[in-house]
Amino acid sequence: MRRHNVDALADDTSLPVIVPRSHKVLVPTSSERARRLRKHLIAALRALRTMKLPERSDPPPPTEPVGFVARVAQTACTLCKGWCCKGGGDHAYLDEQTMARVRRDRPELDARAVLMLYIDRVPRDGYEGSCLFHGSQGCTLTRSLRSDVCNSYFCAGLASYLSGDDATSPVVVIAGEGNAMRTSPILAL
Ligand code: SF4
Ligand code: SF4
Repeated sequence: MRRHNVDALADDTSLPVIVPRSHKVLVPTSSERARRLRKHLIAALRALRTMKLPERSDPPPPTEPVGFVARVAQTACTLCKGWCCKGGGDHAYLDEQTMARVRRDRPELDARAVLMLYIDRVPRDGYEGSCLFHGSQGCTLTRSLRSDVCNSYFCAGLASYLSGDDATSPVVVIAGEGNAMRTSPILAL
């Protein structure tokens, strides 16, 4: 932790929210990755055809943070630069459940159009070793196109803050460690 950050944090009563920080680098997205995504989505769309009553197997949408806690979460994820997206690979956790939801919400689109919704959102440059949709400005998918895994996941530090009973205290987000650590300004209601 850099010295001046330690002092700044020690001097106030803000609640620290501690998250990791990604150090991945941006590289051009290979056509091979886009091909793997296409193959994965075609399999998920085919699996959807054989699902029984897909509407009923669609789980309720996850609860999103709102208001001040949403601002804290957004600040944390921005400073962290999407550390948790490394598991998304070339599939982004998209499965037949997600396809069922997307098709239900966009009845005017056929399967090919849904496929293109995703293919068109693959960024030209993405973070090496992270999810295919992890671009320079974060995730290129809107929440309505993301998997339930992505829409409901929070890392330990953020989950602990979001499930706590103090949603009104000022907060300082601390992302990463050592020289690479970054802190947010004090966030207050
Ligand atoms: S949930 Fe946690 S690990 Fe994932 S992007 Fe946000 S702060 Fe980073
Ligand atoms: S789809 Fe978006 S939120 Fe989900 S792992 Fe990929 S980049 Fe992260």
